[in-house]
Amino acid sequence: MVLVLAALLMMRAHLTTLRQREEMRKLATTDALTGIANRRHLVDTGRLEVGRARRYAHGLSTMILDIDRFKAINDSWGHPTGDRAIQALSRTMQTIVRDQDMAGRLGGEEFAVILPETDLAGALVIAERMRAAVAGDIEVAADDGQPVRFTVSIGVAALGEADANFEDLLTRADRALYQAKDSGRNRVVAA
Ligand code: GH3
Ligand code: MG
Ligand code: MG
Repeated sequence: MVLVLAALLMMRAHLTTLRQREEMRKLATTDALTGIANRRHLVDTGRLEVGRARRYAHGLSTMILDIDRFKAINDSWGHPTGDRAIQALSRTMQTIVRDQDMAGRLGGEEFAVILPETDLAGALVIAERMRAAVAGDIEVAADDGQPVRFTVSIGVAALGEADANFEDLLTRADRALYQAKDSGRNRVVAA
């Protein structure tokens, strides 16, 4: 009887440890505001995917999204409305990415998606779907209930010979993003 009780107590302690470990892992890998992958987790995954893409000679693409004139949303409607815009964008992204893709928040109003086994043409299709969904469907409520809408600019890049690592790929997507900003925003540009 005592032994059974001791065994049960040990099992319970073990389960608590496992649960705590899982909670810690979640805290370390997810972004608090949106619940999607944080920058570190996204970059770690990107590195693994670059390794896999090279090993199996598969395509790999990535895109960076950035909310257009986000500062104006914060300035006109307040920071909490800006936060709701970030959350709404993250939810819309989640509905468009496929199971094998990973969306993450790089910081601020900037997000990235890793698209394994996807070439540039395939990534552009998804990016355009994303851009159109944000421009057409997203509406968040300001504190006074007024509807607030916004758009995103997206830079897309596919892994190439010249990319030494995931950071190089991300940097090229980021340059394409800035071209999208320069050429008028609410658009998708390929690196
Ligand atoms: P652009 O179209 O060129 O991207 O212009 P922008 O205004 O979106 O870009 P900018 O980088 O000037 O502004 C980003 C702003 O995002 C500035 C910062 O105060 C705000 N910001 C960063 N993180 C958060 C956040 O977590 N919540 C909210 N509400 N605002 C944030
Ligand atoms: Mg912005
Ligand atoms: Mg930004």
